Amino acid sequence: MVAIIGAGPSGIYAAEALSQQVEVPVHVAVIDRLPVPFGLVRYGVAPDHHSIRSIRHTLERTLDKSGVRFYGDVSIGTHLTIQELRGSVDAVIYAYGSGSDKRLDIPGEDLPGSIAAPEFVAWYCGHPDVHPDTHPAPSVTSSRSARSSNRAERAAELIAVVREAVVVGVGNVALDVARVLIKTSDQLADTDMADDVLDALAGKVVTDVHLLGRRGPAYTSFTTKELRELGQLDGVDIIVQRDDFDLDPSSLAVIGQDKVAARNVAVMREWAERELTGAPRRIHLHFWTKPVRLDGRVAVEAVEVEQTTINSAGAVVGTGEYRQIPAQLVVRSVGYRGLPLPGVPYDESTGRVPHAEGRVIRDGAFSRDEYVTGWIKRGPTGVIGTNKSDAVETVASLLADVRDGEVAPGHRTAELDELLTTRGIRALGMPAWHRIDAAEIHRGLSHGRQRTTLAHRSELLAAAAEDPPAALHAP
Ligand code: NAP
Repeated sequence: MVAIIGAGPSGIYAAEALSQQVEVPVHVAVIDRLPVPFGLVRYGVAPDHHSIRSIRHTLERTLDKSGVRFYGDVSIGTHLTIQELRGSVDAVIYAYGSGSDKRLDIPGEDLPGSIAAPEFVAWYCGHPDVHPDTHPAPSVTSSRSARSSNRAERAAELIAVVREAVVVGVGNVALDVARVLIKTSDQLADTDMADDVLDALAGKVVTDVHLLGRRGPAYTSFTTKELRELGQLDGVDIIVQRDDFDLDPSSLAVIGQDKVAARNVAVMREWAERELTGAPRRIHLHFWTKPVRLDGRVAVEAVEVEQTTINSAGAVVGTGEYRQIPAQLVVRSVGYRGLPLPGVPYDESTGRVPHAEGRVIRDGAFSRDEYVTGWIKRGPTGVIGTNKSDAVETVASLLADVRDGEVAPGHRTAELDELLTTRGIRALGMPAWHRIDAAEIHRGLSHGRQRTTLAHRSELLAAAAEDPPAALHAP
């Protein structure tokens, strides 16, 4: 038995790679602390990105395979220790992603109205950590997620009064956040957003979203398809400074070598040349601009920014020219960061599990039965599909170790179930997910939508139950 911790794309791709090979008979347990699978495909991919979200159907087929079992609502580190899990299976693959955010480390960062993108994304995707029940269930909600829920709730309340928002960072998450903030509720109605999220967004009055890039337009980490989408939003003008496209030698060198960077610059250069239409809402792209302080008496009112440049050593430095951008909401979209899981090796400097080709390094040597894949292996980079090749590498290492006699994954098949039963822990399997799926579709259809995400843990558990209460299905 191989246990995979994390039922996001990286964990499920690892399960797929294990189930596809015929060399070694293996049972796979995919464990997640949440009652539902799919990780960032459900709780990270923007709700208006329908085709990327539909990857869920492929992932679902893997979890439905014989030989693969989903163990939802089982928290490793809370219900079972790593040592206990390792003692009950033949090998473990860590695939628990990057559960936290990077900080800006500037004054005012913790003012109300300032929120990390991972929390804001979790809120609009309907993650139960940030949609707490009135009476939260014991033990599974960590103090970190309780803090997140408070900040996200405050941000949700603030949305009703936010006219100008700043998004720090120029990556794909910043694009997702900017789109969700600037789209009207009509433009978001065809998503599966939870009812209370859609209600909060329906009341918003955002007219201007400012994206801040601390370097120039050649140094964004957007994918071009997602960037183009920003320029195609109805009722939105994109405001970019033409001067930013008089590229310096280092930027020219970047676009000479990097085709994506060159395409992104071409897209934004075209925007800079466009006539503004006088649209009611605007997205502003500010390059060579870094935030130095968030200002406000009781909540964020403005972002103090400094102009930047690249020095001869290639470092980004401030020029000493400052200005203020008014904003009542600041979303810090500067990347995710992996968190330590008690009992698992962790490199504080990278926020990752130390490894070589997916084999975990524990106390300076390869661990006999531990592997790692996904963001907690390589850092928060790449698109969903990147996790597939990453998982294939990890599983190839595991299978090579089986051939060398280091691991024997066909041995233990029942110990994990016995351990969970002994502890009184009832995992939610795929039948429970299919009931939740049906309830979400039913909830959506009853409101004229295709589906509606159940955001609260209590709703998920009620839908997962074999005889869900009739009220759950009432329109
Ligand atoms: P990201 O791509 O790493 O972008 C982070 C951004 O934050 C960069 O622009 C970075 O600028 C900036 N930044 C970092 N520290 C900063 C600081 N102290 N001050 C100002 N700016 C700072 O991260 P992400 O947007 O969170 O995305 C994570 C991963 O998910 C990426 O691989 C992304 O492609 C993927 N994703 C994909 C999609 C999609 O395909 N549709 C959607 C969402 C996410 P520097 O470059 O200067 O460091």
